[in-house]
Amino acid sequence: MEERAAAPDAPLHFPCGVAPALGVALEIAPGILWQRLPLPSGQTVNAWALRDGDGWTVVDCGMSNEPALEVWRRLLSPAGPLEGRPVRRVIGTHLHADHVGMAGWLCAEFDGELWMTRSEYLQASLLQARSGGLMSASELSFYARAGWDAAALGALQPMGRHMAPLPTRYRRIRDGECVRIGDDDWQVLVGSGHSTEHACLYCPARGLLLSGDQVLPSISSNVSVWPSEPGANPMQDWLASLAMLRRVVPDDVLVLPAHHDPFRGLHGRLAQLERKRHRALDRLRDALEQADRRAVDCFETLFGRKEFASVFVQQLATGEAVAYLHYLVDRGEAVVHEDVHGIAWYRDAAQALPGSAER
Ligand SMILES: [Zn+2]
Repeated sequence: MEERAAAPDAPLHFPCGVAPALGVALEIAPGILWQRLPLPSGQTVNAWALRDGDGWTVVDCGMSNEPALEVWRRLLSPAGPLEGRPVRRVIGTHLHADHVGMAGWLCAEFDGELWMTRSEYLQASLLQARSGGLMSASELSFYARAGWDAAALGALQPMGRHMAPLPTRYRRIRDGECVRIGDDDWQVLVGSGHSTEHACLYCPARGLLLSGDQVLPSISSNVSVWPSEPGANPMQDWLASLAMLRRVVPDDVLVLPAHHDPFRGLHGRLAQLERKRHRALDRLRDALEQADRRAVDCFETLFGRKEFASVFVQQLATGEAVAYLHYLVDRGEAVVHEDVHGIAWYRDAAQALPGSAER
């Protein structure tokens, strides 16, 4: 079952198209195992196990549900790829359930530590605590303001499912800090936009970047305004974070992302991700020149479709549409006004009358 490829000191390699099966690990670089955990969508999330003394440090760990638990049990069994050694530490790149859903279980199982940035830990704890509860009035009004109808609003649920209760204490990691894992120093690089304080880990000596959801090879991460901070401008944060990564991390690293395969060509991928956002912003500018729009009216312009597979995906699309709109409002290119129903309408600033309300 085990696919342990590289011998110690073997050069880094990129095993094109050879993703490890569930419950199996692939040694992508000496002492660094690539594992995948199943998600309810049928997709997977990567968990990276880094050899750390007599045990492991695991970076991201999948959602908490039966299939993922079953995979972890296989990985951790004495005959499994982690050799039955303990997980001493879980590093969560950010708050989302596919990244830290199993952190509580893993830490409890091995008396391990959870390491995260502060705002990611606090937000993840809050989300988990609210799981199964009701949407608040202010959360519902956020989506109503974006143009959702009553039926869609009635289907909304708080996030935080698939997350085991997090440990009630954690170790804070900060931007620029060096984290020693095994014999290697990893620099914490904090980005923002997909979440508020997302940690990437960069090892200059080995030319490796654990990029979490900050840089993905074949999909672009969701960048959303959320009801908890309705005035945020995460698109600006996102673009600034991509620029930061280009400044700090050289192009020739091997990128170990949270979804899909490891890849090389970081700077080219960063440029693609930036281009995609700027093209969408250009389309949005054109659309606002033609007519005033609510966030929900921008779906086709931004995403090429009006309907989504689930309320959750529609939630992501709405948050991202608002993120694009706020970016233009903050730059003075668009203005927003609320109608008598409390719905936000965005307009090209050049066509706006004096006195339009701020967001
Ligand atoms: Zn995420």
